[in-house]
This record gives sequence, structure tokens and C-alpha cells, in this order.
Amino acid sequence: MSIVILTGAGISAESGLGTFRDKDGIWTKVDLRDVATPEGFARDPEYVLKFYAARREHGVKAEPNAAHFALARFEAECSDEVLLVTQNIDVLHEKAGSKNVLHMHGVTNQDLCNNCGHRQKTEKSLTVTCVCPQCQSIGTLRPDVVWFGEMPYHMGTIEQALEDCKTFVSIGTSGEVYPAAGFVANARVAGAHTIELNLEPSSGGNLFAEAHYGLATEVVPKWVEEMLA
Ligand code: NAD
Repeated sequence: MSIVILTGAGISAESGLGTFRDKDGIWTKVDLRDVATPEGFARDPEYVLKFYAARREHGVKAEPNAAHFALARFEAECSDEVLLVTQNIDVLHEKAGSKNVLHMHGVTNQDLCNNCGHRQKTEKSLTVTCVCPQCQSIGTLRPDVVWFGEMPYHMGTIEQALEDCKTFVSIGTSGEVYPAAGFVANARVAGAHTIELNLEPSSGGNLFAEAHYGLATEVVPKWVEEMLA
């Protein structure tokens, strides 16, 4: 893979989906230990399912913005191979037309059965009385998102892509959540050119060779335009 692009909540902020760690972010309103850990789900599944029902509903209604569309165009027109790795649980990259997308933290529009591992795409909200269509267990379906303490998805493929890439771009992420926050270091070790596109310098901002700061809907289309020129 020649170019690896990592995206975070900041790319979807202008589509109306809240970020997590900004001053009005989701983690200022709810405690992540209650809604984004297996222990929180075991303690109060009803509360957790309500929280993700809202995320699912917002995700269904949200539309991609100019930054998502620019990345889809980049993938379609770039002569190099492009891999999009997203921490986002929304599917706005796919809605915009991106094809080569890995959701390392899962997606809101899919259920996962904690009992048998069955997965199903859906837009319906989950409740504690839902029955798994495969194993018939009651109350074992959860959103297919990766919670704190769980292993992110596709790590083998992502690590290989970082080892092989010539360019690594990080967009709209605070650089606070590992392993994604460490990708820039992996890419540097592999000799890749590293670029940050964000509202402001992230936690690891000084690790990038190049940086452009501003709204994703402005800096991302501009960067794509320059790369394709
Ligand atoms: P974060 O909330 O920690 O950081 C968001 C970053 O985006 C910040 O650095 C902020 O400065 C920047 N930002 C905010 N508005 C922006 C804009 N308009 N243009 C450009 N940059 C902007 O989010 P993160 O780093 O992605 O944190 C990782 C976790 O957040 C992941 O687990 C991810 O699953 C989750 N998350 C996903 C969504 C979603 O799917 N839309 C929403 C919130 C959080």
C-alpha cells in the first residue's frame, strides 16, 4: 500500500456527528467507562444500548461532507494504492464512495452477538430483549463497535500497510487513543512521509513532517487537489 490515510472523529464533525474529546465532545457528557467498555455493558446494558441507538440514528441521518468526498475522489483518481483506516464508527466514507476502508473500531450500523459472534447489518435500535437470529440468545446482541479494553479490528493488515507505505496522512484525530495514535511513529520508522490535517496540532503533532490546520472541509479538499495536480 503506497498511501495510508487514518481518519478520526474530526472528519465527521462538520456532518453533525460530535467528536469525543473536544470541549463539547461526547466524553464531556457521558463517562466512557459507562458506555464504551465491556464492564459498562455488563453493568447496565439498557443504558449502553440507548447510547448506541442514538449514535446509530445520527449515523443513518448524517451525510458525508466535502472532506469525505475529497478522499473518495483521491482513492478513485490517485495512481498509487490508497488504504483508508478509520477510527470512526459512522459509515460516511462509504456513503461518499470510498471503497478501500477498514473500520478499526467497528461500525454503528451492525450488531454483534456476544454469545455466538453472529454479525448483522441493521439500522434498527437494539434493546435488552432482542434475540440473536443465529443462536436465539436473548440480550446478547450489542453494537459491533470496539470498546476500550477490546482489540481493534484489522490490526495485522494495518501494521503491514504502515510498514509498506510511502505516505501516511492523519486527519481529524486527537492522537489520544492507541493504537491509532502510534501509527505515525510506525510510518516514520518505515521511512514514510507523514502529514497531519487537523483543526489544531494533535498530541503527537510534532511527529509529522508536514501539517495543515483548519476545518476538514477546507484542508482535506485542498490537500487532495494539490496531490492530484
Ligand atoms: P477525538 O474526539 O479524540 O478528536 C477529534 C479531533 O478532531 C481533535 O483533534 C479535533 O481538534 C479535531 N477536529 C474537530 N473538529 C474538526 C474539524 N471540523 N475539522 C478537522 N478536525 C477537527 O476523536 P478521535 O481522535 O477520532 O478519537 C478516537 C475515538 O473517537 C475513536 O474511538 C472513534 O471511534 C471515536 N469517535 C467516532 C465518531 C464517529 O464515528 N463519527 C465520533 C466521535 C468519536
